[in-house]
Amino acid sequence: MLGAGCSGLHLALALLERRYPGKVTLLEARSRYHNDRTWSFFTEDPSAFPYVRHTWGEVEVGAQGQRARYNAAPFVYATTTASAFVGHALAAIRTSPRTHLELGVRAEVDLSGRKPWAGGRAWDLVVDTRPQMPAPGTLLQHFLGAFVEFPDARLAPFMDASGKPKRCVLMDFYPPKPGWVSFMYLLPFSAQRGLFEVTYFSPSRVTQTAYLNDLSAYLAAHFPGPHRIVRMEKGVLPMSAQPPPERVHPAYVEIGSRGGALKPSTGYGFLAMRAQAAALADAIMNDADAVVLPPARPARKRAVDAIFLDYLTNNFAEGPMLYQRLFAHNPTPRLIRFLGDTSSLKEDVQVMSSVPILPFTRTLLTRLLPFAR
Ligand SMILES: Cc1cc2nc3c(=O)[nH]c(=O)nc-3n(C[C@H](O)[C@H](O)[C@H](O)COP(=O)(O)OP(=O)(O)OC[C@H]3O[C@@H](n4cnc5c(N)ncnc54)[C@H](O)[C@@H]3O)c2cc1C
Repeated sequence: MLGAGCSGLHLALALLERRYPGKVTLLEARSRYHNDRTWSFFTEDPSAFPYVRHTWGEVEVGAQGQRARYNAAPFVYATTTASAFVGHALAAIRTSPRTHLELGVRAEVDLSGRKPWAGGRAWDLVVDTRPQMPAPGTLLQHFLGAFVEFPDARLAPFMDASGKPKRCVLMDFYPPKPGWVSFMYLLPFSAQRGLFEVTYFSPSRVTQTAYLNDLSAYLAAHFPGPHRIVRMEKGVLPMSAQPPPERVHPAYVEIGSRGGALKPSTGYGFLAMRAQAAALADAIMNDADAVVLPPARPARKRAVDAIFLDYLTNNFAEGPMLYQRLFAHNPTPRLIRFLGDTSSLKEDVQVMSSVPILPFTRTLLTRLLPFAR
C-alpha cells in the first residue's frame, strides 16, 4: 500500500478486522506522524468509532453571527484527531505479525510489467493512496484551522448544563466577495477552547496572513477579548466533480482522495474512505488476484455534486444563501443524509428543489433524469 494516511490506515484496519491471511505492507513517506488534521463527520452511532473525541447534537448555520440552530438527531456531529485515529490504527497494526508499516519510504509506482513495482519491489497488488495536486483551474476548498484558547468561558453558550459540547457551527458566512465564498467553521471543545477554521471556496489560495486577518476580525466581532492560538492546521481540497480514475492495471487500485472518495461540494471524505476501504477489503478477501472495486461514490451522487458546483462557480455571491436555504428548508436528518451521500433519489430531488432557482432546477432535471429509470 502506498501511503498510510486516512484511507491507507482504514484499509489496514479493514483487512485486520477480516483477518486477512496475506501479507500487508504500508509504505509511508512521512518518517513520523503529526497531529495535522481534525476529521469530523455525522454519524448515528459514534460508539462505532472508538477514536471519536467530541460529539455535538446541534449544528448552527448562518451568516455574520446570525445563525439558525438545527437539531441533528438521530445523528451527532463527531470529531477525531489525526493523533487519535492514527494511534488507534497503529495499535491494531502492531498486533498483527503480517502487517508492516515502513515509515520514511517515498515510493513511486511502475506499472509496465505484469506485477506492479513500488518502493523497489514487485507486488501482487498495489493500493495507491498518494494524494494528487488538483488540476490547474480547479475550484478549491482551502482553510486554516486555529485552535484558540480563551482565558474565560467565552464558548460557554455552546456547552450543555454539565459543561459538555452541545452545539457547533458548520458555516457562519462572511459577507460575499466577488469570486469566492468564505465562512467560519467552529468546533467548541470546551467553554475555553475551540477550533476556528477560516474556510474559502475559491479558484486560488490565499496567504496565511489573509486567513489570520479574517480570523482576528471574526474573533473581535463575535468573541471579543484576549485569546491565544495554540496550534494551527491547514488544508487544500479539490472541489471537482471529475469521475474517479479508470483502472489502468489489474493489480493496481487507487483509493482515498485520489480514488474519488472526497465529496467535492463539501470536502468530506473520512466516512467515504472508511466505506471504500471496507469494500476493497471485502474484494481482496473474495479474490485477491482479481480485485473488483465499486466506485467510491455512486454516479448519481457525483451528478448532484456536479450540479452544485456548476451553480456555485457561476453564482459565488449566492453561495451563502444556497447553503443556508438547504438547512432552513429541509428536515435536518434528510439534509445530513444528502451531505453524507446516503440519501435516496427522492430525497436528492427534494433537497435540490428546496433551492428555488430556475437554472439550477433545469440542470437538476437533465442531470438526474437518467437515474430515475
Ligand atoms: C486539515 C484537513 C482537515 C480535514 N478535515 C476533514 C473532515 O473534518 N472530515 C472529512 O470527512 N474530511 C476531512 N478532510 C479531507 C480528507 O478526509 C483528508 O484529506 C484525508 O486525510 C484524505 O485521505 P487520503 O488517504 O486520501 O490522504 P492522506 O490522509 O493525506 O494520506 C496519504 C498518505 O500518503 C503519503 N504519501 C504521499 N506521497 C507518498 C509516496 N510517494 N510514497 C508513500 N507515501 C506517500 C502521505 O504522507 C500521507 O500519509 C480534511 C483534510 C485536511 C487536509
